[in-house]
Amino acid sequence: MQVKIYINGEWQMQEKERLASLINPANGTSIGTTAMATASDAENAISSANQAYNYGEWSAFPPSERAVYLLQIADQLENRKEEISKWETRNNGKPLRETHADVEAASECFRYYAGLISSTDGYTFTSGTEIQGLVTYESIGVCGLIIPWNHPILITAWKTAPALAAGNTIVLKPSEYTPISAYLLYDIFDQVGLPKGVANLIPGDGEEVGATITNSTAIDKISFTGGTETGKKIMAAAANNITNVTLELGGKSPVIVFDDADIEHAVDHALYAIYFGSGQVCSAGSRILVEESVYERFSDHFVARAKQIRVGPGEADGTEMGPLYTEAHMNKVLADIKRGEEEGATLRCGGNRMYGDDLDHGFFVAPTVFTDVNKDMSIVQEEIFGPVVVIQKFTQENEAIALANETKYGLAAAVFTGDSAKGMRVIRGVKAGLTGINNYGMGDVQAPWGGPKMSGIGRSLGPDGLKEFQEAKQINVSL
Ligand code: NAD
Repeated sequence: MQVKIYINGEWQMQEKERLASLINPANGTSIGTTAMATASDAENAISSANQAYNYGEWSAFPPSERAVYLLQIADQLENRKEEISKWETRNNGKPLRETHADVEAASECFRYYAGLISSTDGYTFTSGTEIQGLVTYESIGVCGLIIPWNHPILITAWKTAPALAAGNTIVLKPSEYTPISAYLLYDIFDQVGLPKGVANLIPGDGEEVGATITNSTAIDKISFTGGTETGKKIMAAAANNITNVTLELGGKSPVIVFDDADIEHAVDHALYAIYFGSGQVCSAGSRILVEESVYERFSDHFVARAKQIRVGPGEADGTEMGPLYTEAHMNKVLADIKRGEEEGATLRCGGNRMYGDDLDHGFFVAPTVFTDVNKDMSIVQEEIFGPVVVIQKFTQENEAIALANETKYGLAAAVFTGDSAKGMRVIRGVKAGLTGINNYGMGDVQAPWGGPKMSGIGRSLGPDGLKEFQEAKQINVSL
């Protein structure tokens, strides 16, 4: 596999010294190379997107015409699901069943925004007796989309589909570690004949290519998903040009379990919440808060189930959890675990790199559980982004809400209880954007994704996700 740059409808080859190797995290072997674009490539891509926006037909097309392209892209994603998910698994490490689901959800995202842009419009109002007003939602211009490595095809779709549906043109920078699925998506754009310059792909690193996008005065909108520290840099760069910015950042999300919950059901969801994607998920439920009277029962059961998770290469049959995405990240997660032990938490299972037949050369960390933690420990406060969960104890409803809110993040939260009124009271008290009662993290393309505090600014998905790529305009007509 060789990932190339795509600017103004043309594939571009790169000199050998500008290629980086792509590594399969399940076995440490090379699966191909990616072009590492330069700042000058990024500027060319921005200029091509500007030409297409200002002089091309895309933004002037009626929405229903753009929708036809989006529907063709959705069909092609569906047709090429096996191929794209196989490469996503090799590139990122996730089990095939997860990457299948991501490609399906990416296809659904293009389909959803094709429908939404064809069916939504502005509104009218009257002002006194002399003005009839119209409010329209127009495209913003050239959008710079910056993508992380953990859900490459999915987050690419979450940004690309609404941006294109609204009539913008785009410059996309995938993660330097996982650019393959974006490259395959651009192959689809090429095949469906997206007009030249409407979508441009510049694989490369953050400091050179990402920063060229965020510092550019020719970029009208930045939509970024990634770490909170990177988000701060991007917001600072956007401030210089007052560029419209959406940030989807990190999390340390709570799963709250009351003693009247169906414990088996709560354990099922809490396991999924943390070990899905090996915990490398922004909305991971990495803190479990359990009412004191069922704390031991819940913890014992959770630990027993965590030990049974089948860890292995994402391409192997029956794998439930894959490796971490790079060796460096695995080492960072192991260091975070060590710090948890040094801080005095009890390590109930995992905590180690895994070895064995299929695992020796991959970056596998065992499902890890800590109990006897307190709110000041780093493992309770910091996003680890690995298969590591802490189980905290609470005695009262108000304490559960206070503990849930005691981090700098606010992305996801869930409460498990047999009392629906209590469930509602608690979830209303928790500052988070993606919440559930008796379920965890059931995101849907129709509803906004994102959260307050240091988890970001703005929302993806649903009608709110489209508005992130539109400007409202009022037109006052004198009567
Ligand atoms: P990261 O911040 O290291 O990188 C994200 C992207 O930003 C990459 O493409 C990278 O090349 C680019 N980048 C890095 N420095 C840059 C700079 N100075 N200017 C412009 N671009 C730059 O994040 P990551 O490690 O790829 O992803 C993991 C993080 O993403 C986690 O914190 C996770 O919580 C977060 N995340 C959030 C959501 C959400 O929806 N809230 C979803 C997925 C991941």
